[in-house]
Amino acid sequence: MSDTSKPGNFITQIIDKDNESGKHGGKVLTRFPPEPNGYLHIGHAKSICLNFGLAQRYQGQCNLRFDDTNPEKESVEYIESIKRDVEWLGFQWKEDIKFASDYFEQLFNFAVQLIQEGKAYVCQLNAEQMREYRGTLKEPGKNSPYRDRSVEENMALFMDMKAGKYKDGEAVLRAKIDMASPNINMRDPIIYRVRHVHHHQTGDAWCVYPMYDFTHCLSDAIEGITHSVCTLEFQDHRPLYDWTLETLGTAHPQQIEFARLNLNYTVTSKRKLKQLVDDKHVGSWDDPRMPTISGLRRRGYTAASIRNFCDRIGVTKSDSVVDMGMLEHAIREDLDANANRAMVVLNPIKVTLTNYPEGKEEIFTVNNHPKNEEAGTREVPFSKHLFVDAADFAEVPPRKWKRMTLDGAVRLRGGYVITCSEVVKNDNGDVVELLCTYDENTLGVNPEGYKPKGVIHWVSAEHAVDAQVNLYDRLFDNEAPDANYEDKTFLDFINSDSLTVIQGAKAEPSLLNSAKGQGFQFEREGYFCRDLKEEGMVFNRTVTLRDSWAKIEAKGK
Ligand code: ATP
Ligand code: MG
Repeated sequence: MSDTSKPGNFITQIIDKDNESGKHGGKVLTRFPPEPNGYLHIGHAKSICLNFGLAQRYQGQCNLRFDDTNPEKESVEYIESIKRDVEWLGFQWKEDIKFASDYFEQLFNFAVQLIQEGKAYVCQLNAEQMREYRGTLKEPGKNSPYRDRSVEENMALFMDMKAGKYKDGEAVLRAKIDMASPNINMRDPIIYRVRHVHHHQTGDAWCVYPMYDFTHCLSDAIEGITHSVCTLEFQDHRPLYDWTLETLGTAHPQQIEFARLNLNYTVTSKRKLKQLVDDKHVGSWDDPRMPTISGLRRRGYTAASIRNFCDRIGVTKSDSVVDMGMLEHAIREDLDANANRAMVVLNPIKVTLTNYPEGKEEIFTVNNHPKNEEAGTREVPFSKHLFVDAADFAEVPPRKWKRMTLDGAVRLRGGYVITCSEVVKNDNGDVVELLCTYDENTLGVNPEGYKPKGVIHWVSAEHAVDAQVNLYDRLFDNEAPDANYEDKTFLDFINSDSLTVIQGAKAEPSLLNSAKGQGFQFEREGYFCRDLKEEGMVFNRTVTLRDSWAKIEAKGK
């Protein structure tokens, strides 16, 4: 039985066939296998949505398994962040979290089994010799001089490796497959190496660690995974995956490869993201400019918007680059439908209503959402002294100007129509205050005879709360920061305007009641969210109002 409310893909076709033939007894058990060497990024979200999504579709389950065979690059901080991000995306793994390191004993025994079957040997070529013997894409490799060691000798040497008698790099265990194979992965790949390092899960119990290719397929087999879904770069590793499981006679999950997510204007490689953090190009892994899941969350992306994005890009077998505009479209769509509106003036300029009584205060009740009554209303105070955005006034207006100008009328959103009668300037000639009059008959109605062209946002100066607003933009100003350039790296394409901090913004007081992480549309300014970490009134711009992707999509129809 499968849930076909969402469109299928080539992987669901494979599973449907398996279910028809009864290959796995109708069972679907997938896994998401991150290496805890960094925070998860938007590419991982695609893999998470796919693996957990398949489990949901077939009423199966998905394991969260840490592929922790490189202890020196891994940490508990990364493990915790990965758990948090998977849960936040809305998925629940089967039973306890798994670690490849849970299987170190079993993996070691499998290696011993290979030795006993004459299918593995201890090799003591150094790294340089190893490269030389491996051959190239055009030339076959050469057999290692250690290849024909006896089973007994290999057993003794492997036990010595385990007992710590070798330094790092002095000996490795290799599978004995075929040094002439056109597939370099099959040229006697290393399956165990010596590493005298502390492991975050197993402590100092081991000084030999299994390699990824050996670990991964066997972890899948041990857990009874049915479909082992991974990205295309592992296609050339599949023969080794299959060889290992066949040779050892274990359960045999099917490896299926799909195209990884590539997103323009960003990088999705943990190594590069780590460099951005380590070299302080961004504040942290969860800096709102990072394409990490935690960064996107702090930027104001909702889990639903990321899941929708992943549904939309689909799952295929051919590599392509997805437009960042599509991700931005997904969050705009969500916030447009679901986020409350609020008024925040980013570059405040004073407005004094000369005909409004000093000390008088009115409370306007305004809708939180223009299209959704259920979103309710909020109270917005009004008084003689206001702030509007400096950009909404022009002494010499350009053509088709709909905002404030001398002697021009505009409507204050949710309030009165006002007309500017005098401009106050400082000694430098900068406009510092606008003296205006308000028309008391215009609250919510346009009086007969005139209709102001523009509507602007505002806050009452006495009631406004100070806010810091972080205007985020894309982190890279090049479409393909990751591409191979002769003289440049991705770091050369960092957008120097990716963050503009506005300290003196004036926000309507209702925002004092906002929750950390809550998203808003700041009227006429864009979509923002209250920062998840900072205590005070700090808001991050999620996206602007302009939706380039919606236009592209409309054109395509
Ligand atoms: P990175 O290159 O960022 O280090 P990785 O593949 O080394 O990524 P893993 O922790 O090994 O990171 O990845 C866990 C899972 O996520 C793997 O199954 C991997 O194929 C998948 N994955 C990683 N990057 C992407 C991506 N851009 N699109 C789809 N899936 C991805
Ligand atoms: Mg990896």
